[in-house]
Amino acid sequence: MVGTGSPSVSTAVDMALKHASERDLFISLKSENTSPVGISADAFTRICEHIFTGEPAVKIGKLSQTAYTRFDRNADGILDENEFHDCFATWIQPTLNSRKCLLIVDVQNDFITGTLALKDSPAKQDAAEVVPVINRILADHRAAFDTVVYTQDWHPADHCSFVQNVKRLNVDVSSKVQPHDCKPFDIVVIRDDDNSLFEQALFPAHCVQNSFGAEFHPDLKVVPDAVFIRKGVDSNVDSFSAFKDNRAKSQTELDRVLSSMGVTDVYCCGLATDYCVGSSALDALQFGYRTVVISDACRGCADSGISHMQQRIKEKGGCLINSTDLPNLLNGSERSIILAEQGLSDGALERVRMQPPKAV
Ligand SMILES: [Zn+2]
Repeated sequence: MVGTGSPSVSTAVDMALKHASERDLFISLKSENTSPVGISADAFTRICEHIFTGEPAVKIGKLSQTAYTRFDRNADGILDENEFHDCFATWIQPTLNSRKCLLIVDVQNDFITGTLALKDSPAKQDAAEVVPVINRILADHRAAFDTVVYTQDWHPADHCSFVQNVKRLNVDVSSKVQPHDCKPFDIVVIRDDDNSLFEQALFPAHCVQNSFGAEFHPDLKVVPDAVFIRKGVDSNVDSFSAFKDNRAKSQTELDRVLSSMGVTDVYCCGLATDYCVGSSALDALQFGYRTVVISDACRGCADSGISHMQQRIKEKGGCLINSTDLPNLLNGSERSIILAEQGLSDGALERVRMQPPKAV
């Protein structure tokens, strides 16, 4: 029998979770009547109810069952001490003490007032509107983030995404758009040195290295001790994501930096939702980070592209929130079931095994 309904056990579980004590949690909830001694599925659900207070019971039950099955590796219906240890270290502990990065993507002049200003794209959104939202997040919540990362699109003048450079690209005969008649936002098919074909979207020249257009918006708050990542620096390959280029040929420093800090959660915002923010969020998920997109701190190019990207992020398990949801999420008074589900992915569990988050 596990007396999880009694107030004393309930308090013990609360205390064990508060102090993130694996040993106390195991002792409070273990069943003595099973062989081996361990945590039953019912007791595990009690733990989840304590962690995800306020969430609907049906959702907690489903999450608990998924997690239990995941960690009951020998499928004997009990989490023995070793299985519970793995579960605690790789899933419960990061859920209680996640390490968070705020990833601020490409809040640069060219996307706001310059050559690729979002207000001139089909959705006609004003990219400058993200600046006060991001500044408020930094003012109110800087301390809740273990690190803040700013990215910059940072292109050489001969970059392959610039429409005026199309004549130097090896546009394939199969490309519907040919160099003599292409214009910004066309897509050409390029034949690479290894004979493979890939699509390249063409843009007006933007974010040229060391130009005003590549600088951050002058009103964007830049906090001390931030990390800066520049992408799209290779003339021959474009890079929407902050993690890797569009052809997955090379990575930026971002994953190495975040891994070395034991970061588990990436909160994305900036420009543009349907390109660089979305691609960064999808990569963060693929790299095993629990990933949140702060929707009202992003602006995008096209309504259809924005909704398509949001759908893809959701399908991959990503979490879309508004900045007003941040306080409860960051201070732990609300724990997101969506994030906890992300934490059960192979990539997320492997990430924590390699680099456990430090206990607070
Ligand atoms: Zn670019």
